[in-house]
Amino acid sequence: MAGQRTFVTRFAPSPSGLLHVGHVYAAMEALALAHENGGVCRLRWENLDSARCRAEYQLRAAEDLAWLGLHFDGAPLIQSGRMDAYARACALLRDAGVLYPCFCTRREIREQAAESGRAPHGALGIVYPGTCRLMGEAEREERLARGDAHCWRLDCRRAQDLVGILEWEDLLRGMQRCVPSETGDVILARRDCPASYHLAVVVDDAEQGVTHVTRGMDLFEATHVHRTLQALLGLPVLVWRHHGLLLDESGRRLAKRDGARSIASLRAAGYTVREVIDSVLRAHARGGVWSLP
Ligand code: GLU
Repeated sequence: MAGQRTFVTRFAPSPSGLLHVGHVYAAMEALALAHENGGVCRLRWENLDSARCRAEYQLRAAEDLAWLGLHFDGAPLIQSGRMDAYARACALLRDAGVLYPCFCTRREIREQAAESGRAPHGALGIVYPGTCRLMGEAEREERLARGDAHCWRLDCRRAQDLVGILEWEDLLRGMQRCVPSETGDVILARRDCPASYHLAVVVDDAEQGVTHVTRGMDLFEATHVHRTLQALLGLPVLVWRHHGLLLDESGRRLAKRDGARSIASLRAAGYTVREVIDSVLRAHARGGVWSLP
């Protein structure tokens, strides 16, 4: 139909270890939703974390995906090649007055949070107590000019002043109310990189024309931040579908470090593609509980 956007999902693994059955589950969710809707599914390598991500893991994961017959549309997007785009988005946010530099170390933040007696952890990790938001303009300028190490944080209250209360839709859970001021002042650009996970995801979903995001429930709370950033950057609003995570027989989340569940180890042990795919489909039918094929 004229004017209607293509239905686009994506699979966005971080190549910080071997591809495992949890990844396969996420990839199958993204592919299934696209195909059920006559759409396409794109691939993105989220390799911003240079300390943990390695080109070798990406190569091996790409090989495992091909072995499994999981194919994606178009060329994959690789985050490490997108620094200019992230820097441009950061500049827009800075101009809008919703970013501030934060000079605190992790340790200082832990100490500040403990001193103020506030619960140091929220749904998105440690809650930043806002120390650098309150810094005077002169001190801020001086420290920036001196080249003191800093990241950039979202001033979530200012963000709310600009975009108000928002909504987003989860295909499984319905409409969600998003109160930007409750997300905390998350990091949008790290010390060593002009982006954080939150900023890169939002910029790249728009770049790849994504309309529907499938991903694990562990990222449900992060979606409030992403919806807020879409509003601030004037990017299309997406629809989400947060799925459950794969669990082991005792109900614990399958972890990446558990090599036994890597596709490489299943291949080496002689399991076939059909058996691996069926084990994931079976887990889906059993509320996420995965066991060896
Ligand atoms: N790169 C993330 C992961 O591997 C997924 C991010 C997302 O889907 O937004 O868990």
